[in-house]
Amino acid sequence: MIIVLKPNATDEDIQKIVDKLKEFNYGAHISRGETRTVIGAIGEKIMEEKILIMEQIEVLPFVEKVIPILTPYKLTLRELKSEGTKVYINDIEIGGNTVVIMAGPCAVEGKEQLRETAKFVKEKGAKILRGGVFKPRTSPYSFQGLGIDGLKILYEVKEEFQIPVITEIVDPRDLEKALDYIDIVQIGARNMQNFTLLKEVGKIRKPVLLKRGLSATLEEFLFAAEYILLGGNSEVILCERGIRTFSDFSRNTLDLAIVPTLKEKTHLPVFVDPSHGTGSYKLVPSMSKAAVACGADGLIVEVHPNPEKALSDGPQSLNFPAFENLMKDLINISKAIGKNI
Ligand code: PEP
Ligand code: MN
Repeated sequence: MIIVLKPNATDEDIQKIVDKLKEFNYGAHISRGETRTVIGAIGEKIMEEKILIMEQIEVLPFVEKVIPILTPYKLTLRELKSEGTKVYINDIEIGGNTVVIMAGPCAVEGKEQLRETAKFVKEKGAKILRGGVFKPRTSPYSFQGLGIDGLKILYEVKEEFQIPVITEIVDPRDLEKALDYIDIVQIGARNMQNFTLLKEVGKIRKPVLLKRGLSATLEEFLFAAEYILLGGNSEVILCERGIRTFSDFSRNTLDLAIVPTLKEKTHLPVFVDPSHGTGSYKLVPSMSKAAVACGADGLIVEVHPNPEKALSDGPQSLNFPAFENLMKDLINISKAIGKNI
């Protein structure tokens, strides 16, 4: 790390830093400039210690700032696995040359609704069925999901149509039970920094789709993934789902620039959710195509047999014809960038 001192720092202050660094077995390289002194801390430490030292130095009144040389996260770093992580669900490879589409209703509303959707989206090329059963709704008066009964429906439909399923878990107490029914655990945007939940999914041996928090920075997003990897679960898929900005024409602002950024900085597969990312079925097809074109490994899209009657997120759900058209376009776009679908 590099420690930049304030212009009025005295020799005594410099000595205090050198002593502090010595306390942690760090060497110091002092560089006196015309107006400021900069100290390079020399030594190797584990991450927890580095953060502690930085914090203890940063609070000193004569310190302007402390700059870490290496990024504070490590398990997500691209350098660790330059070929990229591939996540497997049976024979479906995520993070490879195939764009994987997850599709289905925002919420499981009943068996027929899910059967109908599963049959259709699978026929049109979706590889994974989505369906929420524990719904994190903004209003407590909105439909909260079918809970355990919904899990059972997911499982029955998954078996009938031979399609893996993904659902969001919001409460760590539901996690173990849910694992008997589902193939991928979704961590929702509102829970991206629910560290208890992250630690719990770090212990499981099933893939996790981690959504970016509503106002999460890139670093916060990566730290959240780091929690899961640190727990021993390396099957993490990152998912951009739109963030809160001043822009007011859409539900969220889909930050597609994070896709190539994440691909460059991390080895994890990156997905995009154009449904929550925009909040409007009209914007979903174009943003889906843009997401694939900019390098997303897959999409998670809301599809409903009858969006106008949906119990949740109808306005952003594609109906069947719209999903069919989108899949046709996605096939062409994937081909154009040397991928398949
Ligand atoms: C969802 O996928 O249904 C959902 C609630 O997503 P998010 O956490 O991104 O809002
Ligand atoms: Mn939804």
